[in-house]
Amino acid sequence: MGKIVILDENTANQIAAGEVIERPASVVKELVENSLDAGATSVTVEIVNGGKKSIRVTDNGHGIEADDAAMAFERHATSKIRTIDDISRISTMGFRGEALASIASVAKVEMVTRAEKDADGTRVYAEGGNIISLSPAGAPVGTTFEVRELFYNTPARYKFLKNDAVEAGYIHEILTRIALSRPDVSVKLINQGKTVLHTPGNHDLLSVIYSIYGSDIARSVIPVKMSAAGIEIEGYIGKPEISRGNRGYESFYVNGRFIYNRIMTTAVEEAYKMKLMQKRFPFAVLMLKISPHFVDVNVHPAKLEVRFSDEKKVFRAVYHSVSGALSSASLIREVREDGSYKLTTGQKPQIPEQIRLTEETVYCREPEDTAVTKQPAQRLEAPVPAAEHTQKAREYVPEDKITVQYAREDKAITQTGHENVKTAAGELTGEKIPDIGEAEEKSPADDKKRLQNARIIGQVFSSYILLEEGEDIFIIDQHAAHERISYEKIRKKYAEHESFEQGMISPLAVNLSELEMDRFKHLSGYLRRLGFDIEVFGSRTVLVRSVPYILSGGFSSRDLADILEKLYIEVSDVSDMIPEETLYMMACKSAIKANRKMTDVEIRALVDELAETDDLYTCVHGRPAIISISKKELEKRFKRIV
Ligand code: ADP
Ligand code: MG
Repeated sequence: MGKIVILDENTANQIAAGEVIERPASVVKELVENSLDAGATSVTVEIVNGGKKSIRVTDNGHGIEADDAAMAFERHATSKIRTIDDISRISTMGFRGEALASIASVAKVEMVTRAEKDADGTRVYAEGGNIISLSPAGAPVGTTFEVRELFYNTPARYKFLKNDAVEAGYIHEILTRIALSRPDVSVKLINQGKTVLHTPGNHDLLSVIYSIYGSDIARSVIPVKMSAAGIEIEGYIGKPEISRGNRGYESFYVNGRFIYNRIMTTAVEEAYKMKLMQKRFPFAVLMLKISPHFVDVNVHPAKLEVRFSDEKKVFRAVYHSVSGALSSASLIREVREDGSYKLTTGQKPQIPEQIRLTEETVYCREPEDTAVTKQPAQRLEAPVPAAEHTQKAREYVPEDKITVQYAREDKAITQTGHENVKTAAGELTGEKIPDIGEAEEKSPADDKKRLQNARIIGQVFSSYILLEEGEDIFIIDQHAAHERISYEKIRKKYAEHESFEQGMISPLAVNLSELEMDRFKHLSGYLRRLGFDIEVFGSRTVLVRSVPYILSGGFSSRDLADILEKLYIEVSDVSDMIPEETLYMMACKSAIKANRKMTDVEIRALVDELAETDDLYTCVHGRPAIISISKKELEKRFKRIV
């Protein structure tokens, strides 16, 4: 007798389920995508035990007609395509007709649905892929799925699930991605009876960001909008002050789908270069629209990765949209009391707490100081455990018709309901988003003018410059500011092929190690272009006759060794360009150090020069050059106002 048999349908479905349905979060993804395909404007997901015990998804979509209800559970049953040709013009998330059959084969599923044209709804109950009952049921238009005891009949798969909190975390992540991609849909997640995510569905992405990440993030983002060469980019990016220790806050979408893509990630991070310190990553939610002909989505089975046919074009579009947005916004970091808004629970929201750490520990590294890596980076990088998602969730209360109006740069947004925000525990917090754009947004041009008009208060700790302008105190880190100024000067000179050279009053003899001597010989061309005139003077000695003019204030043999090393590491054989990093380092070396007294005349000159730079906010290593404290903030701290 032959050994080949055709698998029964249930077994085939269970095997198929292994590919799509890996864990409760995959069930949630499939069901919510079906809801979106059905035109729902509101989707609520309720989970028990991380979705292992039950997952209920309720939507207000168009429902399923009574005649079709049972069929939806069949393999290859779909209402979305009829022939292969339809696939090319499909706009729905699903079309394979596999999800429901797969889910039903490994769980106990109840579906209650009603289409508008039907007077009665339908209830279908299935276990392990077999329909057990089908009956009319009263129901509103829309569909509710309840999936219980996932993998009850495939224990091997059940064993691979993680604990409840971790599985709930995956579900939270999936819904966060979906919510960000669909500001027109109100998405709600209820975990063990608590609302942990709730977006308003008011078509406004900023409101979604607010609901998910809280007010500190929402008021520190900059809108991005660009359209060029067949690519549209829209979204929000974070000011550098809300950077993170990992890429967890970078979300990219291509044609509405959440994806991971190296080109987009690199382009964004490149745009933040010099604005963020090493190992810090920006907040970004970016939606890219491009003709599907230029995207290959089949790189990754779960379709989370895509490949673009013209990667350079995508890189340029993303890079320019982000750097354009960054250069249009004032990036002076404001010192704010973290708890300027209060939660009645007494809990501080998770995210702002972490951001505050960065603000307090950041300082501009002196040339010889590497202590900066000793920041509490570990704490910053700690992921937020799933259970703590509840802390950061803000529940939007659609019933409340309180309206907060605020304007951002170019658009006025009307927001409903934010006055009354509930914590996960359902308590009223009275939290507002008053600070989002309420004060009008300032531009770099405004900041430049303000610096020029500022009154010098003086210098403190021989390291910081204090200024007063309007309703703000500015504090400038003199070293960081000078480094920025020097960098822009040398970069400009270099770009214009001007000479950097500045003769030394008397030549400086420098002894080099054998290794350094080797490097010197290898790099002598670059050194000449940088403005060095150095000649070999004996087997291990060189004579420095000229140095780049910005270093003429004081140049030591140590500096030469450092520059040799930096150049040696950064120079590539293929390019005869001076690496940017070498310019950074020269800028850093030339900058006045902290712990140096400055006269008022020197201060004025430094402030004026800083005002003229292209980017006055950070030194070349991404640390802030200037921060501000508002009069209002002082009044708050002295309890003159609450
Ligand atoms: P696909 O989404 O690939 O078509 P599914 O197995 O996910 O396949 O769903 C099968 C069919 O069931 C869908 O094509 C759709 O007609 C119907 N359906 C599933 N969920 C819903 C829902 N929430 N609202 C309306 N129709 C639904
Ligand atoms: Mg589907």
